[in-house]
Amino acid sequence: MKRAIFPGSFDPITLGHYDIIERGVKLFDEVIVAIGVNASKKYMFSIEERMNFIKEAFKHEPKITVVSYKGLTVDFCKENNVEYILRGLRNPADFEFEKAIAHTNRDLAPIETVFLLTAAKTSYIASSIVRDVIRNNGDYTKLVPKSVRIK
Ligand code: ADP
Repeated sequence: MKRAIFPGSFDPITLGHYDIIERGVKLFDEVIVAIGVNASKKYMFSIEERMNFIKEAFKHEPKITVVSYKGLTVDFCKENNVEYILRGLRNPADFEFEKAIAHTNRDLAPIETVFLLTAAKTSYIASSIVRDVIRNNGDYTKLVPKSVRIK
């Protein structure tokens, strides 16, 4: 059974994340979308809201599970028999950042990181941009799955 983790903050999930998860499902038997909890970071959405946005977006897809976790991603992988880390790449900055993390993870555990290149139409989307649009009352709905709605 090929199991992958897609770790991130997902504050909130965007159409860019959605695209990577949908394509990851075709490569793996299970994709665990895992929200990393970092106590020192400030988030726009609570962990429950972020989990519900993702669960609702993929309620039609039984191969996807949504969890939250604390600590190192490789420790989560060891504890849950996960052999692959799935990450998305948008641009050279992502590549440099992801390269360092992937090398570090490989030093820590025999876990492969699999990179998928972003779809062209979602390559410019970032959660930080979505948060800026929301804060300034712009139309964020084109950037996120339908499950992400601000009440
Ligand atoms: P973090 O803040 O921990 O990097 P994110 O939720 O921003 O977490 O990102 C998680 C993963 O999703 C990363 O691999 C990131 O490169 C990828 N990602 C983010 N936005 C996009 C996008 N528009 N297209 C493809 N991948 C993306």
